[in-house]
Amino acid sequence: MAGKWTPDSWRTHEARHIPAYRDAAALADAEATLKTYPPLVFAGEARSLEKELARVAAGEAFLLQGGDCAESFAEFHPNNIRDTFRVLLMMAVVMTFASKRPVVKLGRMAGQFAKPRSAPTEKQGELELPSYFGDNINGIEFEAATREPDPARMVRAYSQSAATLNLLRAFASGGYASLQQVQQWMHDFMGRSPWAERYAETADRISEAMDFMRACGISTDTVPQLQGTSFYTSHEALLLPFEEAMTRRDSLTGDWYDTSAHFLWIGDRTRFEGSAHVEFLRGIGNPIGIKCGPSLSTDALLNMLDTLNPARIPGRMTLISRFGHDKVEAGLAPLVRAVKKEGHPVIWSCDPMHGNVVKSESGFKTRPFERIMAELRGFFAVHRAEGTHAGGIHIEMTGQNVTECTGGAIAITDEALGDRYHTHCDPRLNAAQSLEVAFEVAEMLNA
Ligand code: PEP
Ligand code: MN
Repeated sequence: MAGKWTPDSWRTHEARHIPAYRDAAALADAEATLKTYPPLVFAGEARSLEKELARVAAGEAFLLQGGDCAESFAEFHPNNIRDTFRVLLMMAVVMTFASKRPVVKLGRMAGQFAKPRSAPTEKQGELELPSYFGDNINGIEFEAATREPDPARMVRAYSQSAATLNLLRAFASGGYASLQQVQQWMHDFMGRSPWAERYAETADRISEAMDFMRACGISTDTVPQLQGTSFYTSHEALLLPFEEAMTRRDSLTGDWYDTSAHFLWIGDRTRFEGSAHVEFLRGIGNPIGIKCGPSLSTDALLNMLDTLNPARIPGRMTLISRFGHDKVEAGLAPLVRAVKKEGHPVIWSCDPMHGNVVKSESGFKTRPFERIMAELRGFFAVHRAEGTHAGGIHIEMTGQNVTECTGGAIAITDEALGDRYHTHCDPRLNAAQSLEVAFEVAEMLNA
């Protein structure tokens, strides 16, 4: 995959899962518009994230990446953004407190719209229409006009991402994320979860520690690390016309960055040899992820690492494994061993969601909580056996009280899935289930 890289060199490679826009003029128009819009993130921020991730790669920190499977125009609301953000904060506090190590917080937020689909079309009765590819491409209603890919949706997605990111930045540095608020992040509906009590205990201990520091004369109000947090954004770099339009040359270093998010990843379906997505990502300076599923061979992975990170920069590469609860131990170990032997500095992160989808008796696509936990345990077991760092988790979650994944401490049953099944794509952990994962992972971190 040598050759000169340019922001559009992906166009001479095989691009899967990108829609065929029928209106070429409208597409050119949307791309031209986006190229004139301000970057969403600054290259210096992407470099700061890479530095934080280098600490994860070195085994000194942990990565928490989470958010919606697919953001949507319909669910765009400040409360949804706030609630997902605060659950991520709660999870990070639990994991930091237990492991005594920093947790890097990375949202699947402010740009996570485009979805690869297993089939390009969907049939209902006699009618066959394009599948739903995410709100930045087409609409979810099963209707011919809505399912037609519309380039103008990219511009709307940009605006929603900008507004979401603006609120996240305000929360992260404007006082909401202050550790003095640690008690306030709890949701009312979490009260029924046994983990809510555990969280309240942790929050009390943190508050006590802060009181103690103040009594010693440390003014906690002026310590930036206690007053706010760093929070980064990420999404799958699937819709390359959009990503190309957001790719700019950094005026400080002259390097290219995809300014649509701090971190971009390449999906399990688009990481094949010769892929346009691999070609695009190799040229940008942002830290990047690769989803690693059962079909990935060790040779293909090592080739990709040589292509994407020839300089072997620590913090640049995050390998996100997603094997399934029953395949993780056998599937992951050879990859971990090969990467270690080659000496590539990577972060290993576990996505326990995408290999554990089942169809429930009630007809909903779901993910049983116990399988999610089983994959996480398998992931930690592999790293313990190989002497490598289990560096992070990547989860689909929301701060809302949805009923999309079965199980958990407030057990969601098959029959209850229909109560509040709101996702636009894959089933997400709800707030209480996410907190439960954080406590369980905190224990694994200390084992
Ligand atoms: C996703 O993260 O939403 C996704 C589609 O994952 P994967 O590429 O691992 O299937
Ligand atoms: Mn998904």
